[in-house]
Amino acid sequence: MVSVRWQPVDLRLHEPFTISRGTELVAENVLVTLQTDEGVVGYGEAAPSSHYGERRSSVLAFLQEFAGSLRTDPLSTAPLAMETLHRRLAQVAHLNPAARAAIDMAAYDLLGKMAGLPVATLLGGDLAETPRTSFTIGIDTPERMAAKTRAASHYPILKVKVGTPHDIENLAAVRSAAPHAIIRVDANAAWTPRQAIRMIREIDQFGIEFVEQPVADHDLAGLRLVRQQSVLPIYADESCIVPADVPRVADCVDGINIKLMKCGGLYPAVQMVHLARAHNLRVMLGCMIESSVAITAAAHLSTLVDVADLDGHLLLAHGDDPFVGVQVIDGRLMLSTAPGLGVTPSAA
Ligand code: MG
Repeated sequence: MVSVRWQPVDLRLHEPFTISRGTELVAENVLVTLQTDEGVVGYGEAAPSSHYGERRSSVLAFLQEFAGSLRTDPLSTAPLAMETLHRRLAQVAHLNPAARAAIDMAAYDLLGKMAGLPVATLLGGDLAETPRTSFTIGIDTPERMAAKTRAASHYPILKVKVGTPHDIENLAAVRSAAPHAIIRVDANAAWTPRQAIRMIREIDQFGIEFVEQPVADHDLAGLRLVRQQSVLPIYADESCIVPADVPRVADCVDGINIKLMKCGGLYPAVQMVHLARAHNLRVMLGCMIESSVAITAAAHLSTLVDVADLDGHLLLAHGDDPFVGVQVIDGRLMLSTAPGLGVTPSAA
């Protein structure tokens, strides 16, 4: 049998993090543990996003409900079946993707520990095949964005947030501070299709690798139009949330950005990877502001994708990460060979 426990955790950011739709100072996340009768513990984390209809209180309500369902119908650990687990999570509540992701990654951590294998191996990946992650430069003045870029000189790939009236000045400042970095941009749905087409032509001068979510979440016709007119590859993030979205956006973009907190965990995320491959899409794996628990879970999946943007834990204030997990060395995600996720509490 498995018991579930949870604990709210406030993750303070090293500095305010601004994207086109707002500024974040503290991430109100929830840490989750699943424990077997034998004392094996699996760790998970929910990073709820109001943009996807979740907040900490809804995560806590979901976990309460799930714990209640375990009392009447205990979860079997021999073997722990992910399809069955996700069917049960959908019965508790169909939304709440971050809450479901927390249980999902804790279950994978348990499964890996019981099998004596890293989660990457369970997912079909190779621990040695992790991609390099980008480091995000949030929206600020050109001077401050240049300073943040210089401070991030050990990261070879930068993701620059755009969607302000000063994008050209901002990108010029970042490019001059990092002449050799790979630069991607993310508009977080800020542009109209017409603006996007014009802006992409203009920012091409800075040597941009690709553009993420140029237009509004639900404007698939706009996304398709932008891609037809764009010299740069286009990725969908806010427009591609769950597996069923992949076929819908397939002819509108060149790639998708999968996040555990949008789709509900590693199990649906793997489905999205395979759906994307079937539609000849490139695959990015992104994150919210998360501790090393959720980032490490995503890092195990990153062995199956093309592009990683797993820097949520790198943006935390010093000492605010309650766990130690994947290490980032010169941008490369370095996983341990420990069974499960390989995360341990920082204090331990
Ligand atoms: Mg994005």
